[in-house]
Amino acid sequence: MKAIVDADACVGCGLCANICAEVYQMQDDKAIVIGNSITDDLLESAKEAATSCPVEAIKIEG
Ligand code: SF4
Repeated sequence: MKAIVDADACVGCGLCANICAEVYQMQDDKAIVIGNSITDDLLESAKEAATSCPVEAIKIEG
């Protein structure tokens, strides 16, 4: 599984990075995804961040 952030949609609130810092980081007021794939132990947290995003900018697919 991997996470994809739509940088155009992201409003830079920082919520995803707060919820799952292992997968999401803020860079220039946008969230970026660290690494290519989400390890199993981080999947729940990464999904929680995606569902918490106020503008639904995060997709998890894989
Ligand atoms: S939660 Fe959504 S809007 Fe907020 S920083 Fe993350 S991707 Fe951007």
